[in-house]
Amino acid sequence: MRVIAIDGPSGSGKSTVARRVAEQLGLAYLDTGAMYRAVAFAAMRRGIDPEEAPTVAKLATQIDLEVGDAVMVDGVDATIEIRSPEVTRAVSAVAANPEVRRELVRRQREWGADHGGGVVEGRDIGSVVFPNAAVKVYL
Ligand code: C5P
Repeated sequence: MRVIAIDGPSGSGKSTVARRVAEQLGLAYLDTGAMYRAVAFAAMRRGIDPEEAPTVAKLATQIDLEVGDAVMVDGVDATIEIRSPEVTRAVSAVAANPEVRRELVRRQREWGADHGGGVVEGRDIGSVVFPNAAVKVYL
């Protein structure tokens, strides 16, 4: 499995670079930030407080999540909503939840195995999720 890990602060252009690299090399692309946003979206839709760590962690294990050109949460297209200011506010608490991280890291590794690697963008990708990544970029 060959992974190209791309990390950097928001506004660094990492998403644009990651997408282009994937396109140029014909590799699959995974936006892991969209996964955290999707969990925050799912919590908000159910009226769950994003700070309610055990409930959000349980939700992260239960939802059906597809992150590709579109982001689908339990069959609902959330591509636009996950970029909303409400989700952006809620996502910090979700991303700080260790149990959510454990579950999403598990899903990210599963995605890597299913796709034979690819371009994976986000925090902790080169250090925690795929420490053996072929290329690690910090923008
Ligand atoms: O990159 P984006 O803004 O979409 O990330 C959403 C949130 O998820 C941010 O708070 C980011 O720090 C967090 N995140 C994370 N781990 C990742 C990807 C994103 O904690 N692998």
